[in-house]
Amino acid sequence: MVLLNLMYLNCLTAIFTFIHNSLSDLESLRESFTHLIIPPTMSRRRKPIPILEKVEIIDAGSEGKALARVDNMVVFVPFVVPGDIVDLQVTRRKKNFYEAKAIKFHHYSDKRVEPKCEHFGLCGGCKWQIMPYGDQLKYKQKQVVDNFERIGKLDTSGIDPILPSANEYFYRNKLEFTISNRRWLTEKEMADGWPEDTNGLGFHLPGMFDKIIDINNCYLQAEPSNSIRSSVREFARENNFTFYDTKAHVGLLRNLVVRTAITGEVMIIVVFAEDQDDNIRLLLEHLKTSFPEITSLMWAVNKKLNDTIFDQAVHLYSGNPFIIEEMEGLKFKVGPKSFYQTNSEQAYNLYKIAREFAGLKGHETVYDLYCGTGTITNFIARSVKKVVGVEIVPEAIDDAKHNSELNGIKNTSFFAGDLAKLLNEEFISSNGAPDIVITDPPRAGMHPKVIDQLLNALPEKIVYVSCNPATQARDIDMMREKYELTKIQPVDMFPQTHHVENVCLLVKRP
Ligand code: SAH
Repeated sequence: MVLLNLMYLNCLTAIFTFIHNSLSDLESLRESFTHLIIPPTMSRRRKPIPILEKVEIIDAGSEGKALARVDNMVVFVPFVVPGDIVDLQVTRRKKNFYEAKAIKFHHYSDKRVEPKCEHFGLCGGCKWQIMPYGDQLKYKQKQVVDNFERIGKLDTSGIDPILPSANEYFYRNKLEFTISNRRWLTEKEMADGWPEDTNGLGFHLPGMFDKIIDINNCYLQAEPSNSIRSSVREFARENNFTFYDTKAHVGLLRNLVVRTAITGEVMIIVVFAEDQDDNIRLLLEHLKTSFPEITSLMWAVNKKLNDTIFDQAVHLYSGNPFIIEEMEGLKFKVGPKSFYQTNSEQAYNLYKIAREFAGLKGHETVYDLYCGTGTITNFIARSVKKVVGVEIVPEAIDDAKHNSELNGIKNTSFFAGDLAKLLNEEFISSNGAPDIVITDPPRAGMHPKVIDQLLNALPEKIVYVSCNPATQARDIDMMREKYELTKIQPVDMFPQTHHVENVCLLVKRP
């Protein structure tokens, strides 16, 4: 009888969980929680899925997943580390690879470390926390070598050791939080009865637009980030402010952006979804008086279906409408919509490497392609004759020009446009042929037309900064007849993640 009651209770809990979180969410949660060894479930929608037994994890691969090899098939597995021996449940079968989740650990790798963060496993950030930092660096270096050798057939014997980040945690200068009335409820909360308060302030669960993890503590951004986020949540709860409902599109509080700078300045942007003037003022005044370290307090009302505030008016409540970043005495104004590299300290090291690779003498015309807000452009301007920055986002180009002005830099010029179209013979003849090109494209790499134009312009050196060694290797391979790859320097901008930045020097062949 007791057993039956228990089964009944379990069943009810499962139904509640199902209703709240939906079946696909559950699958995802299980996937994220494999390190806690949740037993496998038989999906009601699919055929039973194969279990691979006692598989050794042998490598840490791309996209933050580790890798095993079973019968010559590559298997990608999240939240495990090389050296773990696990049973795997296959979640996806493709022609060339499987995706799987660990459902039982037979042996924990000696290299494994305890994750620092209580949200590990559920949160999509910091997936490599279970690996010591030294190992993270080793696998990032390997990622560059593997991609360069496999995709570009490039010689990597001269690669420099990856430059570690001085801060393994608290290195980000920007975090964007979501405020929602649908926080992720744990199975325990469900079992303990339906919680009254399902509001939360934190990050989206990976792949789920309508669920957020209520973050208690995040190791990515230094104080006052955690205190301000907690204070917003507490104040909202005390005052019965409504949290945004992504489905019904109602609720007052929608997003919170915290930006910090090397100078110690702090910008807060609170995004509301309703015009409740009195409540908006109450919260902003609370932040202003409780956190005197906020130098820029801003707010916006966003009633659109998506979260981006790029097309919304952002208002100033107190302080300045920007914060100031600083590098070698240069000042950069960062507004609520401006891009700035998210690890300020390491961005400085990255730029120093790019400048050193360029070997500037002072007489050069340099192109800075994909220049964003012109940080590299302005950073090297004092060392050359002139720099031409090109970028697709017009607002970023406005910031770039503004930052030249702010620093009294007169030898830069900036152009907004798609490089694939803008960079042509006419552009090159009107701006002067480049002696050196610095290029820092997005993950997709350079458009073939941009590569063609570089091969026409034939600068003496190309410094290629990339956040994706695969596309970087592809692009360098396309230039190999005319350029020799002489230096490779990986840089770690994002500890606890699989992301790696890489700087290469290409020198024109004689
Ligand atoms: N060098 C910059 C960051 C560059 S990030 C810095 O250090 O701050 C890559 C940039 O490429 C982004 O700003 C993006 O807007 C821009 N971009 C993407 N596609 C582009 C294109 N087709 N033409 C020009 N710029 C592009």
